[in-house]
Amino acid sequence: VPDSDPHVRRGRRGFPLLPGGYGRDAYHTGAVPTYALRGAGYRLWDDQGRELIDANNNFTTLVHGNAHPQIVEAASRAMGSGSCWGIPNPGEWELADLLLQRLPGLDQVRFTNSGTEAVMSAVRIAREVTGRAGVIMTRGGYHGSSDVALCAGGEQSARGVPESTVREVSLVPLNDIDSLRQVIEEKPHHHAAIVLDLLPNRAGLIPLTAEFLSAARDLADQHGILLIIDEVISLRLSAGGLSGEYGIVSDLLTAGKLIGGGFPVGAVAGREEVMRVLDPRRKGSIPHSGTFSGNPVSMAAGAEALRLLSPDAVARLNRLGDQARSVVSARIEPLGWEVRGFGSLLRVFPVRKTSVDRDTQHRLWWAAYHRGLLLSSANLAALTTPMTTEVVDDLADRLADAVAEVAETTAG
Ligand code: PMP
Repeated sequence: VPDSDPHVRRGRRGFPLLPGGYGRDAYHTGAVPTYALRGAGYRLWDDQGRELIDANNNFTTLVHGNAHPQIVEAASRAMGSGSCWGIPNPGEWELADLLLQRLPGLDQVRFTNSGTEAVMSAVRIAREVTGRAGVIMTRGGYHGSSDVALCAGGEQSARGVPESTVREVSLVPLNDIDSLRQVIEEKPHHHAAIVLDLLPNRAGLIPLTAEFLSAARDLADQHGILLIIDEVISLRLSAGGLSGEYGIVSDLLTAGKLIGGGFPVGAVAGREEVMRVLDPRRKGSIPHSGTFSGNPVSMAAGAEALRLLSPDAVARLNRLGDQARSVVSARIEPLGWEVRGFGSLLRVFPVRKTSVDRDTQHRLWWAAYHRGLLLSSANLAALTTPMTTEVVDDLADRLADAVAEVAETTAG
C-alpha cells in the first residue's frame, strides 16, 4: 500500500483522527484520555476497567445519573416511534409546559439543540427587540461557543472571533455595580442585552450578589436593555432555577443540559411580547430553526428528567451538596484550600483564588481520577439523585485526598 494512502499515513505517523485526539476541548485533561464505556446511576466504567463515581455527569447534565431507568424508558419509547419528524410533535408542548411551570413570569419557549444555540438565539432576539447591537457580560464567564458568547472569556477565548464582534461586547467584573452602571451610561442606547450566569463556574464559582443582580434588573429596565439569565447549568440548583432563588424575573432565560435528560437540547424562554419576534406568522420575524430542534427523543427524555426533579428532589440534592462541602471543607482548609458552590455543585480552589492554572486543574483531575472520582476538567463536581449520603461521604473523601496530593506537590 503506498505511503500516500491517507489511512496508512495516519496509521504510520500515529495521527489522531480527531484534532489533538479529542472530540471537544472540555475533555482535555493534559494526558492520554481515557474512554467511557458504560454508566449506571452514579457510577461510570472506563476502558481500563476502572469504576468511577461520576461527579462530572457530562458537565452537570445528568442530574439523575447515568441511564436512569425511567428516562431510558421514555427516550426508547420516543425512538421507537421515529426519532425526528418534519412537523411539530406534542413533546415540545409537554416540555415547554413543564419548564414554564417552573419559571413564573415567562410565557413561551423555543427549543434548540444546545445551550450555545439558546444563548445565541436569546442575544439575537434581544437585538431585534431593542434594535441595538451591544451585549454586556461579566468577565470570565462562559455562555457557550457562539462568537458573542466566546468574548466573555477574554482575548484567548475569543480567538477566531472577528474584531467587529469583540467590539460589540462589554465585559464588567463580577459583582461590580459601578462598572456595570458606567458601561451602560457611557453609551445609553447601545446595549441590547445583559447576559448573566448567576453562579459562573469559569469565573471561580462565585455567586452573583443579590445587590448586583437587582442593580442589573433595574439598570436594564431604566435603559431599555433586556436581561438574559443563563441557567444552562444553574437550573438544577433550585426548583425555579437560580433566578427563582434570587426572586428575579429575566426577560429571557436560557436553559440546556438537564432539560434534555441526557440528549442534545437547549431552550430560550421569555415573555410573550419578547418571544413574539420569533413567530413565523408575523411579517419581519427573525429566523430560528434547527433540523433537530424540539426532536421527540430529547423532549421525552427531558420531560421525564424534569418530572423526576421535583422540589423535594432538588432539596434533597442540595442537602447532599451541603454535606459534601462540609466534609471536604473540614479536610482541605488546613491545606490552604477551600470549597465553593451552591446546592448540588461544588468545586475546590486554593484559598481566595478565583482561577486555577490549567496544569493544577489537570493534576487535580488525575489525582481524583486515580482515586475513582470523575470531575469535570475544570474540577467541578455535580451531585446526582441516585447518590446517597454514604456515596457523598465517599466522594468527598476521595476529593479531599486528591486535594491533599496536589497541595503537597504544589507546596513542594
Ligand atoms: N451557558 C452556560 C452557563 C454553560 O455552562 C454552557 C455549557 N457548559 C453553555 C451555555 C453552552 O451549552 P452547550 O455546551 O450545550 O452548548
